Amino acid sequence: MPVAPSHPRQSAASVAESRAALLKHAARDAVDYLETVNTRPVAPTREAVNALAALRGPLPDGPTSPEAVLHLLSEYGSPATVANGGGRYFGFVNGGCLPAAMAAGWLVSAWDQNSAFQVQSPVSVALEETALDWVRQLLGLPAGCGGAVVTGATMANFAALAAARHALLARAGWDVESDGLFGAPPITVVVGEEVHSSLIKALGMLGMGRNRVVRVPVDGQGRMKADSLPPLDANTILCLQAGNVNTGAFDPASVLCPIARAAGAWIHVDGAFGLWATVSAEHKRFTHGYDQADSWATDGHKWPNIGYDCGIALVREPKHLKAAMAVEAAYLVQGDQREPSHYNPELSRRARGVELWAGLRSLGRSGMAEIVERTSSHARRFAAGLRAAGHQVLNDVVINQVLVSFGGPEKTLRVVGRLQKDGTCWCGSTVWQGHTAMRISVSSWATTVEDVDRSLAAMLKAAEDEATD
Ligand SMILES: *Cc1c(COP(=O)(O)O)cnc(C)c1O
Repeated sequence: MPVAPSHPRQSAASVAESRAALLKHAARDAVDYLETVNTRPVAPTREAVNALAALRGPLPDGPTSPEAVLHLLSEYGSPATVANGGGRYFGFVNGGCLPAAMAAGWLVSAWDQNSAFQVQSPVSVALEETALDWVRQLLGLPAGCGGAVVTGATMANFAALAAARHALLARAGWDVESDGLFGAPPITVVVGEEVHSSLIKALGMLGMGRNRVVRVPVDGQGRMKADSLPPLDANTILCLQAGNVNTGAFDPASVLCPIARAAGAWIHVDGAFGLWATVSAEHKRFTHGYDQADSWATDGHKWPNIGYDCGIALVREPKHLKAAMAVEAAYLVQGDQREPSHYNPELSRRARGVELWAGLRSLGRSGMAEIVERTSSHARRFAAGLRAAGHQVLNDVVINQVLVSFGGPEKTLRVVGRLQKDGTCWCGSTVWQGHTAMRISVSSWATTVEDVDRSLAAMLKAAEDEATD
């Protein structure tokens, strides 16, 4: 067994040599993995999951060589993955990972940068700032917006709502960062009935209460009903949603935003994936009006296919985000430069902005539009094929989301179970306004028409087998 490179008897040259061999081996294993990911069952087999036992157990007393560690991962880890990197994973709203973003991620691991401060990583800060501004431009948001690259839309909602909380309470003469929420003037948070659970969680983490919200009724697609909007004032945060996680529907921002702005309310947009529809000429109409908001949360790891973990918070007046997030200590960097940590809930962080930069740079505006259009057209193809076979599509397929019922709740769940077991593709289930449904989200750059047709055939077969059994 090779000696661990940390071994004091190894020379610097041999440490470098064994590291080079290890990394080349890891790259080879990764490439091999990706070459087979589209031909294996999408969900791992039960045997593969059971075999993970080899990686559990107590930490050995002595070292294990890095080669042996890598071998364990490839041997037992790879088969127990979900084939998110292939073209037939349609669960949740999971994007894939663009080649440029993946390659950048490998380099970022080699760079091992801490992205907290400029002085720790000029490259990370430069690329993160550039990528944030590219996101702002792609989403058609106002110049001057600033923000943070975070782990996902949950943290983007958290960061943006912290900025909202600061701004509203500062206006009411209350310093929430110093004095907390005990005794503070109340803030009303208005959400749609179909608000995403992560936004509610973010409100809980911010001390604003998971249940202390006013829920606005929605229509059959999950869009907030404008005529049911409660009175808003300057102590209100109105949370709009661009892209419902089930139907893909958009709250009517062009109607709601002018009302909220006139009332002096803060408008926050949860646009984890839907906001990216803006980039496509064909889908732009759905996001009309969202640029009037004060803050936005979105994901790099969903529609843009940047890979995990990548979320983005943007705020119209970044000073509010800074007031909520700035860190202060004598040894930390202060000064005039933009320091990521002053806008981010985290301090030490990997350079995930570099992957965002690389993915967006590889796509360009037209590449991003193409992902939106291609995946949405795949969704329409699924819906048409399912309808043609007599199954009920429950939503208007406006972007990349499809909800389908195969009959009653039990039957639909059994069909989903059969499909998951078959392994051609993977879809989850949901309950949409009382109806149990299978949910198809086409979010990966890697999905081809052939993937759609193979998956559709597997869905129809699962439904047929259920009917005849
Ligand atoms: C996925 C999603 C979230 C949560 O995003 P994460 O990246 O998983 O934290 C929030 N809101 C909406 C609308 C989503 O689709």
